[in-house]
Amino acid sequence: MPDIANNLRELRKELPSRVRLIAVSKNHPVETIREAYDAGQRIFGENRVQELVSKQTVLPKDIEWHLIGHLQTNKVRYIVPFVTMIHSVDSVKLLREISKEASRLNKYIDCLLQVFIATEETKFGLDRDEVIDLLNSLQNNPLQGIRLRGLMGMASFTDDQDQVKREFHFLKQLFEEVKGRFFQGTDYFNELSSGMSGDYRIAIGEGSTMVRIGTRIFGTR
Ligand SMILES: *Cc1c(COP(=O)(O)O)cnc(C)c1O
Repeated sequence: MPDIANNLRELRKELPSRVRLIAVSKNHPVETIREAYDAGQRIFGENRVQELVSKQTVLPKDIEWHLIGHLQTNKVRYIVPFVTMIHSVDSVKLLREISKEASRLNKYIDCLLQVFIATEETKFGLDRDEVIDLLNSLQNNPLQGIRLRGLMGMASFTDDQDQVKREFHFLKQLFEEVKGRFFQGTDYFNELSSGMSGDYRIAIGEGSTMVRIGTRIFGTR
């Protein structure tokens, strides 16, 4: 059994103060999440809507839930009532749906645009031009109920550290470009969600402000 409290303690020592830890609890039971909660962890990430909803209903209400996996438009309304941040926004259509549901409840949802930075075709996300196009289209038509807070990316699953570093560096550069072009004079576009158990140190070196870590805390799923 992994020593969750100890893993969290060791991990937190490594994180600079600007970096927040999202504990990725997917595929782990609520008892395991509660163990991390009792060790002081309050931000948890899940990648499936149904699993997120069923866990949220039984766990303490001061947990901050983040959706980190692919989101279908028809599932948006299940999570908007309680979710704090959606890391995986990859279309205007999805943004509009989040906006609609959030407005109805008179609230704001923090959103990140997911950028495709890896070589594997299996990973979701927008490329650079799609990010720019999406933001251009919103400029004439801003959405209520949404706060675009930054970008998210997943690097390739590879032992080649230089490649991973290049991918995170690209993400950081795109973040700076977007911030300069679309968010000048605002202070809320300031989050870069990058880094998982195998590559969070590299991500932090390339400007990450939020690491999404599962295995390093909870053991293998
Ligand atoms: C599972 C997952 C993580 C965490 O991965 P670990 O290697 O277990 O740390 C991070 N981000 C996303 C989007 C995930 O699906």
